[in-house]
Amino acid sequence: MLSDRIQVLSESLTMAITALAQQLKREGKDVLGFSAGEPDFDTPQVIKDAAIKAIEEGFTKYTAVDGIPELKEAIIEKLKRDNGLEYGMDQVIASNGAKQSLFNLFQATINPGDEVIIPAPYWVTYPELVKYSGGIPVVIETSDETAFKITPKQLKTAITPKTKMLILTSPSNPTGAVYTKEELESIAEVLKGTDILVASDEMYEKLVYGDTKFVATASISDDMFNRTVTINGLSKSVAMTGWRFGYCAAADKTLVKAMKKLQSQSTSNINSITQIAAIKGLDGSADADIEMMRQAFEARCEEATRLFNAIEGLSVVQPKGAFYLFVNHKAVEPDSMKFAKAMLENAGIAVVPGAGFGSEGYFRFSFATDIETIRKGIDRIKAFVESYE
Ligand code: PLP
Repeated sequence: MLSDRIQVLSESLTMAITALAQQLKREGKDVLGFSAGEPDFDTPQVIKDAAIKAIEEGFTKYTAVDGIPELKEAIIEKLKRDNGLEYGMDQVIASNGAKQSLFNLFQATINPGDEVIIPAPYWVTYPELVKYSGGIPVVIETSDETAFKITPKQLKTAITPKTKMLILTSPSNPTGAVYTKEELESIAEVLKGTDILVASDEMYEKLVYGDTKFVATASISDDMFNRTVTINGLSKSVAMTGWRFGYCAAADKTLVKAMKKLQSQSTSNINSITQIAAIKGLDGSADADIEMMRQAFEARCEEATRLFNAIEGLSVVQPKGAFYLFVNHKAVEPDSMKFAKAMLENAGIAVVPGAGFGSEGYFRFSFATDIETIRKGIDRIKAFVESYE
């Protein structure tokens, strides 16, 4: 009954842990969850108000497939203001989350057998969507020894005549690594003269800490501007996961047109009310709220990193951005699934095993939770590690 195509998609490894956590909760066990990939904050009021007004004014019909002009203008203005990038109205599309932007991009560009370079640890969705599009994921391993970043040499080695695309995620889910301008320049140097596309997932752009500066991949050079498709959205930095808004920007108008064609035949425009709300998330109206959330994440990040590094057998590189810690537990247990499962069953702590992100011996701990719960959770993890056999 099922197509060959759908059967190449894997069930998420993390589903097993999530299902187990839910079962334990149903049984009345005290489970603390650190597996969420979304902010614990509510969407800023100014955004909600805009949405309520849109409903009351009857803005409830189909719109242009790629978004109303006001929304596309807000996207273009944001890319100019924050990233120094100049795009026109036929170079941006609003989609149902960054996830749909990525889906559209892979479907529109990847042919069977094309290779897509994905640095690990990676966000779980990339290899699955690449496979679904007929492509072959080519994984470059990184570890905490290189702060989870690829080197130009690794990239050069991974490139073959079949390489179609490189996926970059900065700041990274699950490690919080952020590429500097110099690092992006050296990646750009390797790509020069090739026709390799770059999918730059910049979802966590606004969540950077300390003196870390976010640099947009497309801003590195004209050459990078032409080969980069920027993917971004408001789910993480503006606490809008449920609204389903993401966007992409690309220099190549033919590619943008192709992605728009796919969206027109699959989902059409994104929710009309979300479009009105998203303008407020892009145009600076919610900047004070965004900064309040960023500061809260930064304080949690510092404290959680310090607490984890004080536990014998665990270590973590302090993230430069996003809201996850990718904790190394190899000195205690090499198998991440076994470790995460035992931690859930014996300590009531839900985290995501590193295997789900293509990196064994780590777990991902989300600090998108209040500080008291974080402290309590890390205390429990400490006791669990101390008694681990
Ligand atoms: N990209 C990265 C790196 C993510 O972590 C996520 C969500 O987990 C997404 C994209 C998807 O975001 P959206 O809610 O806009 O689909």
